[in-house]
Amino acid sequence: MTAGNLYQHTLQNFRRVAERCQIHPSLIERLARPKERIELTLNTLMTDGQVHQYEAFIVHHNRSLGPAKGGIRMSGTVTLDDVSALAMEMTWKTSLIGVPFGGGKSGIAADPKSLSAQDKEILIRSFTRSAIRHIGPEVYVPAPDMGTNERDMGHIRDCISYSAGISVTRGCYVTGKPVLLGGIPGRREATGKGVAVSVRMAAQMLGMDLRKARVAVQGYGNVGSAAANELHRMGAKVVAVADIHGVTHNFMGLDIEGLNEHVKGGGVVPSFPGGESITSQQFFSIDCDILIPAASANQITLENAESIQARLIAEGANGPTTPEADQILQKRGVFVIPDILCNAGGVFVSYLEYTQETQREQMTLEEVESRLEKRMESCFRAVHENAKSSQVDMRTSALELSIKRVAEAIICHGFLP
Ligand code: NAD
Repeated sequence: MTAGNLYQHTLQNFRRVAERCQIHPSLIERLARPKERIELTLNTLMTDGQVHQYEAFIVHHNRSLGPAKGGIRMSGTVTLDDVSALAMEMTWKTSLIGVPFGGGKSGIAADPKSLSAQDKEILIRSFTRSAIRHIGPEVYVPAPDMGTNERDMGHIRDCISYSAGISVTRGCYVTGKPVLLGGIPGRREATGKGVAVSVRMAAQMLGMDLRKARVAVQGYGNVGSAAANELHRMGAKVVAVADIHGVTHNFMGLDIEGLNEHVKGGGVVPSFPGGESITSQQFFSIDCDILIPAASANQITLENAESIQARLIAEGANGPTTPEADQILQKRGVFVIPDILCNAGGVFVSYLEYTQETQREQMTLEEVESRLEKRMESCFRAVHENAKSSQVDMRTSALELSIKRVAEAIICHGFLP
């Protein structure tokens, strides 16, 4: 699937729901386009002594509810259109989960797996130097996304403090950073834990006993591994896990602690000795009750939607289901927890990090987890109730609530000049 598709699919979903909500056509056009799309060329001196060029992108989609918020994706294939789609998704997500942020996203077109730790740090610092005018507590606050992590956020914070001559405790320029640099405990696991809370809510509603449920997870990075671990802790049986290299499968349930050790030691998922290695093509037809796509976009498509066995799909990834596949799943009665609800736990805890920094206090892990759980539950309930009363699916309901809120905020701002 190409990157262009993600942009088209995001736009298609937005227009469909905005028209359904009877948003004024001029507002629809305004929200269909990002406020700012910035393209950067990084000329970066790497450890091989050569200057390498990398493309990077920053998109601020909308800031009506607050500064743009959204992660930095590092991937060899990321494009400006991808980043624009993901920035728009962030506008809906922050609005839905009820935090005072708008939507933004960044991309650095480089394969993180091909870089040494030192070269990745150099590239992150090179990006930050070039992007510094577009980042700030009042403008755009980045965070980790695919291919970036806590360590990278620490380097961004350091680079900004150094370049701007400000202390590390002055203002929240980036979230998802190490706790010692103003980060918050539990941010790394927050998205995956939020996914697990959504799954628990949906299972209750569907009358599915989570302790008997079999789960398949695509992606074993930040989101997928935290979701798998949390569901395992809740008593579910994780029967399959996939990463970019392949899939490990065990009908009896995978030994998740063993898999964590295996991956931590540098092993890839399909070589885990506690499971049978199967092909990536077989993953979506695995016999399971709950399917969690937590890798990249456009994974559930016309080609595999009919063969999915799960009754419940929890979108840990952004944009994992194409609109055509979505229709098939709906017809088949599969319950889908849409991405802007399901994976919003990360941005909610980023908001806690932002507030703790502006108020100069330090939250405990217990406080963070309890607030995350409560917010995910109340948001899930609101989306579900709206879906029932409006007789729509969960994706339409979630988009409806979030788009209306952004449109109302724009009207509150007024239109001059
Ligand atoms: P990550 O880089 O930590 O991990 C990605 C995982 O997906 C890796 O295990 C990788 O091997 C696997 N993967 C990539 N392509 C794959 C493919 N084609 N098939 C199978 N596995 C594949 O990334 P992450 O931060 O966990 O993000 C995963 C998804 O969740 C992305 O769509 C991201 O936008 C979304 N998301 C992340 C956060 C966050 O807080 N990190 C928040 C919200 C949404």
